[in-house]
Amino acid sequence: MTDVQPPAPAPDLRQLAWNNVIHAEGTRAVFARRYAALRRWTRVRDVLGLVIPIIVAFLFTTDWVQKFAAYKTLALAFLSFAALAQGLIVVWSILSKWDEELAYSTRAMRDSADIRESWRDVGQGLVADIPQSFAICQTRQRLLDSHDDEKGITAWEMQLGMRAGLIACQRNCRCGELPHSRKPPRTPAKACIICGGN
Ligand SMILES: [Zn+2]
Repeated sequence: MTDVQPPAPAPDLRQLAWNNVIHAEGTRAVFARRYAALRRWTRVRDVLGLVIPIIVAFLFTTDWVQKFAAYKTLALAFLSFAALAQGLIVVWSILSKWDEELAYSTRAMRDSADIRESWRDVGQGLVADIPQSFAICQTRQRLLDSHDDEKGITAWEMQLGMRAGLIACQRNCRCGELPHSRKPPRTPAKACIICGGN
């Protein structure tokens, strides 16, 4: 008597598509966070670039406007601090390629939001041919993921992204919990390596 195995059930493509909605939303959230942080530091760099010439101009006035003379030492202290801070931030921005990273994050946010909606259409069954649309989305997703992999997404960012995806889709993590907050807690009461726990 031969041992005949029943055929493996076909994967539920719509269910898999919903998993990819979570993944795409997670990726979008990670790059949105990177974008916001870079924008903040870029503004600090730009503001310091404006503050320095203003302090220098003020220092010139202290020589001939008597009532400003008392503030000369204070202005010099501010100038030293601002110049040092700006120098460090400029070096950091060049070494970390802020401009490139900003451009990449902007594009990654847009691409992730776009593919997320395509996956959602497959998940909701709004496409004419589910297997064909699934295959197209999968090819695009793999290409996007291969680019994002080069950007060194950290374990903490992966948890952050997973939480964003789970919250957006109102799905529980494999640990059985829906994350209570967008950021993984520092000391979770219930730990989870996938979402960071609650
Ligand atoms: Zn979890």
